[in-house]
Amino acid sequence: MKEVSLPGESEDRLTESNVKAGSRAIVIGGSMAGLLAAKVLSGHYGEIIVIERDELQDRPANRPGVPQDHHPHRLQHLGKGVLETLFPGWREDLLAQGAYEREGKEMHLISPLASLQFPYEKDEGCSRPLLEWVIRRRVAAEPRIQVLQGHEAVSLLTRKKGNKLAVTGAKVKEKRCSDSRDLEAALVVDASGRYSRLPAWLEELGCGKPDTEILHTRLAYSTRYYRIPESLKDRYSTVLIEGDPSLAEGSGVFSPIEGGLAETTIYGAGGHYPPVDPARYEPAAAKLIHPMLAEILAQLEPVGNPRGFRVPECRLNPYGAMPEWPSGLLAIGDSICSFDPIYGQGISVAAAEAMEMGKALQEAGRESDPRWELHLQQRFGKIILPAWWTIVVADLRWPGVTYEGSLSGRGIRFCQEYLDIVRRQALQGGDMELFGLMMGVQGLDLPPSALFGEEAVRMVVSRCKQEAWLEKQLDDGETLGCFLERSFPVFHPGSHAEANR
Ligand SMILES: Cc1cc2nc3c(=O)[nH]c(=O)nc-3n(C[C@H](O)[C@H](O)[C@H](O)COP(=O)(O)OP(=O)(O)OC[C@H]3O[C@@H](n4cnc5c(N)ncnc54)[C@H](O)[C@@H]3O)c2cc1C
Repeated sequence: MKEVSLPGESEDRLTESNVKAGSRAIVIGGSMAGLLAAKVLSGHYGEIIVIERDELQDRPANRPGVPQDHHPHRLQHLGKGVLETLFPGWREDLLAQGAYEREGKEMHLISPLASLQFPYEKDEGCSRPLLEWVIRRRVAAEPRIQVLQGHEAVSLLTRKKGNKLAVTGAKVKEKRCSDSRDLEAALVVDASGRYSRLPAWLEELGCGKPDTEILHTRLAYSTRYYRIPESLKDRYSTVLIEGDPSLAEGSGVFSPIEGGLAETTIYGAGGHYPPVDPARYEPAAAKLIHPMLAEILAQLEPVGNPRGFRVPECRLNPYGAMPEWPSGLLAIGDSICSFDPIYGQGISVAAAEAMEMGKALQEAGRESDPRWELHLQQRFGKIILPAWWTIVVADLRWPGVTYEGSLSGRGIRFCQEYLDIVRRQALQGGDMELFGLMMGVQGLDLPPSALFGEEAVRMVVSRCKQEAWLEKQLDDGETLGCFLERSFPVFHPGSHAEANR
């Protein structure tokens, strides 16, 4: 990994790189969103400095700045498409590092409604540290990108341009040292994740606070690794057992990864926390609605103890709606919106935002738009909204989950009942077309209108013979079109996957 020295420490290294004034960008945070942002920025700035608080190892390794990296991560098609665009051959890199090839293997989905088994298309199972390391290696090979590891951004540098505030860099501190230095840049991108200090920094700068939406999920994961003996290597592929949260039933997932290991997670929302005590882990697996996970684990050898992760809440900071937003500043990834991890959306949304940033950097007229950064945050908001809305609708079905935000209660209730109808038809009725639509919208591959648009609702309702139910949802004289318009947020064209490929 290349490292850069700070100005004052070794000016010659920076001069050597022949950085012209205004052509440096800084990215705060070197996790997935930061790496993707840095790669995109490298096409537009002479020098990109990624400031990362952790010391990074030159191998896949867990690290304190990404505490969720002990837990399973999967990518949606949207995210995979972006990775292939930015880092062609990334999947082959993963497989070469021993990632588990899922293509053609069976996925077992067991839910209270039905059990399904279907073959995987192109997909791979790997730990989160391996995924990040494969991408980081690619980023590190970019001549314009430098990673300042073991350093923390402690505040933003600013300047008033007329009556407008501009961010002009970041104050950076070496972790083990009390001195801080100023690092100037034409653009600062905050990719410091769900614990980002950006809301506090903005307030200190007099920009006010974002009108943060909060989904109180009270979710917890407990993840344990198991070694799969050579003799059983091809017997088990991914298993997902979904409990009914309204009955306080937990869920569990089993997924082979690199190194002959499998990740197993038991999770629950609404305050139903799975055990991290090793003696209680397998008994908890046996209490899931189906014995398959417990039966598999009984044949495997555990590696280490279970580790927990709690997600008390998910947050959306609608930065694009702030009246004051400094020029020279962007936020990306979990720093804007942290999702409920069970839907596996975070990296894919960050990837779509990075691509949107690339588009915006290329557009004519950028230089003449004094609010370019704010307008780009608004474009990120359009990418985020369908994913955020999907998790709010889905999670509010669970007792113990609450929401503070702007989405309409009427729309949410309608969608929950409608989704139950869709799920029953897809899973119990074996309607794979509806199953595909449902998974496509949840996986950000299809726009919400594919399932919740007027035409789609009519198709689903007639297919499921639920005309009487639909009739009851509408006020006297109200058309379905009006109802949907009033009850749903506006999902702009371009706010979903297709537009971000
Ligand atoms: C339990 C769990 C499971 C998940 N599963 C999935 C999944 O299956 N699929 C999926 O797509 N997403 C998943 N996510 C979300 C995913 O982890 C994030 O969306 C993804 O890592 C992108 O986040 P990020 O890069 O914005 O922030 P993070 O990954 O949180 O990284 C922030 C980085 O910034 C650094 N940093 C923080 N502050 C500073 C500072 N001041 N100065 C310098 N560096 C700083 C940190 O050290 C860290 O490297 C999951 C999340 C959780 C909690």
